[in-house]
Amino acid sequence: MKIGIIGAGAAGMMAAATIAENSQGGADVFLIEKNAEIGKKVEITGGGRCNVTTGLRDDKEVLKKYPRGANFLKLAMHNFSPEDVFKWVASHGVPLKIEDDMRVFPKSNDGKDITKLFGEIFEKKKVNVLLKHNVAEVGIRNEKFYTKLLDGQNIVFDFLLLTTGGNAYSHTGSTGDGYNFAKALGHRITQLSPSLHAFSFTEKYVKDLAGISFTNANLKIKGEKSYEFNGPFLFTHKGITGPAVFALSSMAAHEKFDNGETSLFIDFFPEKKYEEVFEDLNRGISENPKKEFINVFRTFVPKALAEMMCELAEVGKKKCPEISKKDLNKLTEFLKNMKFNISGKTPSEEFVTAGGVDLRNVDAKTMESKICPNLYFAGEILDIDGFTGGFNLQSAWATGRLAGENITKKIK
Ligand SMILES: Cc1cc2nc3c(=O)[nH]c(=O)nc-3n(C[C@H](O)[C@H](O)[C@H](O)COP(=O)(O)OP(=O)(O)OC[C@H]3O[C@@H](n4cnc5c(N)ncnc54)[C@H](O)[C@@H]3O)c2cc1C
Repeated sequence: MKIGIIGAGAAGMMAAATIAENSQGGADVFLIEKNAEIGKKVEITGGGRCNVTTGLRDDKEVLKKYPRGANFLKLAMHNFSPEDVFKWVASHGVPLKIEDDMRVFPKSNDGKDITKLFGEIFEKKKVNVLLKHNVAEVGIRNEKFYTKLLDGQNIVFDFLLLTTGGNAYSHTGSTGDGYNFAKALGHRITQLSPSLHAFSFTEKYVKDLAGISFTNANLKIKGEKSYEFNGPFLFTHKGITGPAVFALSSMAAHEKFDNGETSLFIDFFPEKKYEEVFEDLNRGISENPKKEFINVFRTFVPKALAEMMCELAEVGKKKCPEISKKDLNKLTEFLKNMKFNISGKTPSEEFVTAGGVDLRNVDAKTMESKICPNLYFAGEILDIDGFTGGFNLQSAWATGRLAGENITKKIK
C-alpha cells in the first residue's frame, strides 16, 4: 500500500511517524515536502525553541483555547493529549520542560531537536522523505490518487493525507496550496483570514510608545461585534503586539479592520474601577501640592505614556493644584479607556490562518474525508486554529496522530 503525505510540517511528520512505527512494514510511506528540509515552521515556533505543546492538563481547559474547531478536535485531543505529546516526544529522546506560562519546550531550548527526532524515525523506519518536491496538482484516477509535481513527475497513491498547513509565514513553504488540492477533490474551504497578529493604529504618536509593556491590561475591540481579553501586551512603532493582542486577534480573526473605523480600547488598570483610579489620581495631587502634575502621573504609567496622555489631555506643565476635575476625568478616561483606531492587521506577520477545510467535510473520529474515501486531512489546513502557547502545534500533532492511526488500521 502506497501512502502519500503532502507537507512535512508538524501534522505530516507526526502522521508519517505514526504509520511507520505502527504498520510493521506493511506501508510504503512517502512524505513529500517542497522545502529542502522537514519541519521548517515547527523549528521557528517559540522563537526557535519550538513551543511543542501546552503544559495544561485538563482537556476542557485546553479546548477553550481554540476559537475555531474546538468541538471537532475533542476526539483527536482525547486520543493524543498535550500530556501524551509530552510523553511521546520524551520517549523518543527529547526531554521537555514546562515553563511558568505553561508553554512546553525542549530542555535544550533548541527547536531543531524536534525535527531531528522525526528525521531519525524516518531513517530507521525507511519512510521515503522526498525533499524539494513541490506538488502542483492532485486528483483521482481509477480509485487512486495521483500527485503531479512541479517538475512534471507523477506519483500514484492508495491513500493520500493533505498536511500542507495554512498560508501564514508563506516563506516557510506553507503557501496554502492544500486549499486548492482539497477544493479540486470536492471539499469546501471556509473563509481564510490571518490570526495571531499584531494590530496597527492610525494614531502616528504611538511610535513614541514603542517598547512600553504591561503585564496585565484589558484590551477591547468595539465594532459591529465586541471582543475583549486581559493579559500582557507591548506597544510597537505602529500599534500593539503580545499575548493579549494575539488572543484578541484570534477571537476577531474574520473581522476586517482596514477601513479605520474600528476602535480598540485599553484599560491599563483592569483590576480597579473608574472611581478608584480617579481617587488614586486625586490623592496623588493632594499629597504633592508643590509638584508638577506630570511627575505624579509618571508613577501611574511609564514616562512616555504619561507624557503623551498629559499632552492629549492638554494639562501640559500644570502644577498639581492647577488640575481641574475635568482634567482628572480626562486622564482617568485615558487610564481606563484609552481609545485607538485600528488601521489594520500587521501584514504577513501572522502566525496562523483561521479557516480552512470545512470540518463538516471531515470525520472527526478518523480525519478521513467524508467526500473522498482514503483521503485524509490534518493540521492547519483544517478550519481549526488556537491561541499562542503551543495550541496550534498541539492540534497539528493530535490530528496528524489520529489520521496516521486510522490509515494504519485500514492497511493492516
Ligand atoms: C512565526 C511563527 C511562530 C509560531 N509559534 C507557534 C507556537 O509558539 N506554538 C504553536 O503551537 N504554534 C505556533 N505557530 C503555528 C504552528 O507553527 C503551525 O500551526 C503548525 O506548524 C501547523 O502545522 P502543519 O503541519 O499543519 O503545517 P506546517 O507546519 O505549516 O507544514 C506544512 C508543510 O507543507 C509543505 N507544503 C505546502 N505546500 C506544499 C506543496 N504543494 N508541496 C509540498 N510541500 C508543501 C510546507 O513547505 C510545510 O513544510 C507559529 C507559526 C509561526 C509562523
